[in-house]
Parts: sequence; C-alpha cells; structure tokens
Amino acid sequence: MGIEVDPEYGGTGSSFFSTILVVEELAKVDPSVCILVDLQNTLINSLIIKLGTPDQKAKYLTKLAKDTVGSFCLSEPLSGSDAFALKTTAVKDGNDYIISGSKMWISNSDLAGIFLVMANANPSAGYKGITCFIVEREMPGFSVAKVEDKLGIRASGTCMLHFDNVRVPKENILGEFGHGYKYAAGFLNEGRIGIGAQMVGLCQGCFDATIPYTLERKQFGQPIYSFQALQHQISDVATKIECARLLVYNAARLQQAGLPFVKEASMAKYYASEIATYVTAKCIDWMGGVGFTRDFPHEKFFRDSKIGTIYEGTSMMQLQTISKLLKKEYM
Ligand SMILES: Cc1cc2nc3c(=O)[nH]c(=O)nc-3n(C[C@H](O)[C@H](O)[C@H](O)COP(=O)(O)OP(=O)(O)OC[C@H]3O[C@@H](n4cnc5c(N)ncnc54)[C@H](O)[C@@H]3O)c2cc1C
Repeated sequence: MGIEVDPEYGGTGSSFFSTILVVEELAKVDPSVCILVDLQNTLINSLIIKLGTPDQKAKYLTKLAKDTVGSFCLSEPLSGSDAFALKTTAVKDGNDYIISGSKMWISNSDLAGIFLVMANANPSAGYKGITCFIVEREMPGFSVAKVEDKLGIRASGTCMLHFDNVRVPKENILGEFGHGYKYAAGFLNEGRIGIGAQMVGLCQGCFDATIPYTLERKQFGQPIYSFQALQHQISDVATKIECARLLVYNAARLQQAGLPFVKEASMAKYYASEIATYVTAKCIDWMGGVGFTRDFPHEKFFRDSKIGTIYEGTSMMQLQTISKLLKKEYM
C-alpha cells in the first residue's frame, strides 16, 4: 500500500514501474483487490508524495503505508466525464473551509480513512476555483452511503459520499489553492496507466485459467487446442494481450523517465480496456458451458473487465485526448 512511499514514512521507496507490475500481478487473481492497491498507489499516495507539506506527509503517508486506505473523490451525480463541472463547494470560515455537497462512485470509500476531495473554493473563478482537500472519515458532517450493487469488481466498495458542512482546517489543502483541476487531470493521467495494467493482468489471469483446459478437454477424440480454428483465435488473443502490456509498460517507462506520456497513457488505458471484454468473452467461448458457470473464474473476469472502459475516463474520453494530442503533433 506504500510502494513509492519513502521508507522514512514506512513505505518501500520503490518506483512507479514497480507499482504498475504489482497492479498487473494482483489483477491476474482479483481485479477488486488490485483496484484498492492501484488507487492507493497511483493516485492517493502519489498526490501526497508530490504535493504534500512535510506535516501532511508525516501525518498521512505514515498511515497510508501502514493501515489506512485512501479514496480519490472527484465524480459527482451531475459531473462524470465533465468532471470540472463539479458542484461541491468549500467556503472559507476563518482558518477553516466548510465543505458541502456529494460525491458519487467513490472507490474504496467503504473502508477508507482518508479522502482527497475536489471542491470548488471559488466558484466565481469557474474550474480554477477547484481545490484539493484532505478530509478524514471522522470529521463531523461527513458520511458514506451504502455500497453500490455493481456488475463487476464487487469486492471493491463504491459509495456515494455526503458532505454536510464538513469543517476542514486550511492546513488540509493539498497543494495550491485553486490548482485542484490541474492535479486531478495530471494525476489521472498516471492513474490511467494503472487501469491499463489492471486490464492487462485481468486478461492474463483469465487466459492462464483457460489454456490448460483447452489442452485437456477432448472433443472429436482430440484436445480442443489441436483444432486450428481454436489455435488461431488463441494466438490472436495472446497477441492482443501482449500489445496491451507493451502499451502499458511504454507509458509507465515514459512517466518514470519524466518524458511526455499523456497520449501513451490514454492509448494504453483505451486499448487494454477495450480488449479486456473481448479477451474474457473469448476465454468463456473456449471453455464452453463450464465457462458460463460460477464454478470457474471466467464469468467473474468477464464482469470485472467492463469497468475498464468507464472509470478514470471512459474510452470515448481517451479517444478525445489521443486525437487532441495527435492533432498538436501535426500542427
Ligand atoms: C465502479 C466505479 C468506480 C469509480 N471510482 C471512482 C473514484 O474512485 N473516484 C471518482 O472520482 N470517480 C470514480 N468513478 C466515476 C467514473 O470516473 C465515472 O463514472 C466516469 O468518469 C464516467 O462518468 P459518468 O458515469 O458520469 O458518465 P457520463 O460522463 O455521463 O458518460 C456517459 C456516456 O457519455 C459519453 N460521453 C460523455 N461526454 C462525452 C463527450 N464529450 N464525447 C463523447 N462521449 C461522451 C461517455 O463516454 C459515456 O459513454 C467510478 C465509477 C465506477 C462505475
């Protein structure tokens, strides 16, 4: 939970690329456990490591690396893809800010102790009023609603949050006042590489649970793997998984080297998510009837794969980013 956190705060002081590898490995077994670790490392810890004051780091990173889950709170009932149209406000009152509003779809919020909340502290400045606040679960006026009943990643608690005049000291502003929109946009670019890694791991986990079966299962007197029609499909899927993995690793490599990576991150997230539903559906096909039952993990991988094209920016939003950046390259 503290992969890149400095050992001074109880973390392992490792790299972004290591985080991506951990996320991929976890998703091979359970994409829900994976998303808990992914968000903690690629968004929550990352924001505090890069923007936190020494006091904030000492107070929060030590907890995050040890026993506390964090949640990233941007989306609201009326603002998803258009994230900066958010309505949650933070009104100054002496040395504090009073936060009011609601957040929706907040991952891991059933368990989290620390919440990074984007709220508009100067609505007259539009999105340039958006500021990031560190909110603690125990703060009066803050509440977490029921866990949403989802199609997939069901072990990851996704909830709505309510802020009923939550008083937060100004020391809990993370980074600069009014820069929340920059942080949300910037850090989600890194987060997307994590979602790409989650989808690659998920595909690999499903594939690994399938191929041995195709080697054993006999029809027409021979293993189904021996049919050329199946071999070609298997090769095609294996190639797609490898393409997605290389897109993810390339984006992670660029990020770690401090080079531009936004287009590559969107491509990695877009491609890995899009193939994940295809790959898992193909694996179910190759398993035949048993792949359609809950006795095997395939139906879970299939359900878990769908979220990839939705969170941290839908596939269409990734295509928008890619086309915008491509256009710049040709102008
Ligand atoms: C399980 C889960 C976990 C989540 N976790 C978090 C979290 O931890 N923190 C957080 O802040 N948010 C979280 N989210 C929210 C997630 O990021 C949003 O659901 C996502 O950004 C899409 O927003 P929306 O649901 O409002 O859909 P909308 O924005 O309403 O989109 C609906 C459809 O319209 C399309 N669309 C919208 N605008 C355009 C456009 N300009 N051009 C073309 N198509 C467009 C979209 O691609 C989509 O197909 C989570 C969501 C889910 C489901």
